[in-house]
Amino acid sequence: MAEGMIFDLQEFAVHDGPGIRVVVFLKGCPLRCEWCHNPEGQLFQSQLVVSVDACHNCGRCAAVCRFGAAPFNWEKCTACGQCVSACLSGLRRICGSRVSSQELVERLMGYKDFLERCGGGVTFSGGEPLAQSDFLIEVLDQLELLHTAVETSGYAPTPVFRDVLSRVDLVLFDLKHSDPKIHKQFTGVDNALILENLRVLKDSGKSFIARIPLIPGVNDDLENMRAIADLLADSPGLQRVEFLRYHTTAGAKYKMIGREYCPSFATERSPQVWAEPFEACGIRSVVL
Ligand code: SF4
Ligand code: SF4
Repeated sequence: MAEGMIFDLQEFAVHDGPGIRVVVFLKGCPLRCEWCHNPEGQLFQSQLVVSVDACHNCGRCAAVCRFGAAPFNWEKCTACGQCVSACLSGLRRICGSRVSSQELVERLMGYKDFLERCGGGVTFSGGEPLAQSDFLIEVLDQLELLHTAVETSGYAPTPVFRDVLSRVDLVLFDLKHSDPKIHKQFTGVDNALILENLRVLKDSGKSFIARIPLIPGVNDDLENMRAIADLLADSPGLQRVEFLRYHTTAGAKYKMIGREYCPSFATERSPQVWAEPFEACGIRSVVL
């Protein structure tokens, strides 16, 4: 039985597929997008999260830590979790836990009646859920009759992408930039594999939503939007494009995992929204 690492399970989600949904966040991602809103989902291992700004330096966590890592030395931290209960203010937690596919399926099937009544289902997000494909596929194979969706960067070996595609009802496919060099500059990987998997998705006819994060000065120019619209044209399964606005609040999470948030783009400027290139291709778009 496969085991996976998850870092959150959200109930009552309404933006990640039809109806009311349960969203499972799988931990670990091969990309490093500068604007990442879930930096605690990037590492494949569990890690310490601390509400640093609320700390009143009582010293209780340091007293129990055997590694000299508390309160805030992440480099020495082994994520052993000893300090979590020592903090009486509840400022410390371990992000990420291992679960078997059976445990997760049992938990998700507990929502089945409710989700069916609401026309909802389960969405797998991350992190990059396809990076734990053995686990994901084992879970999907046991979620009989539930509507399933996966939110992916599209960055996964194409055979893996095909395997997952054949098992879900809907794909939320992220598209960040059409230019491979700019894509690599801001995400750490180029987009060749992503565009190949987009082609597979289009050819499959499977229902999908294209999601474009709007990052000011990085990808919100008309030229890029025209290029993405061209990539999406003639997709029988495409429901719509969803633009995801960049929020500066993302930065707060970095401090909680011992990282500095220093994006190279203009975080204060509002991104531009271009619906016209998509309309010209007969594609509906919405801003979330
Ligand atoms: S999780 Fe463990 S190693 Fe890390 S700070 Fe807490 S007690 Fe120390
Ligand atoms: S136990 Fe909590 S409040 Fe006390 S020093 Fe550690 S993080 Fe700060």
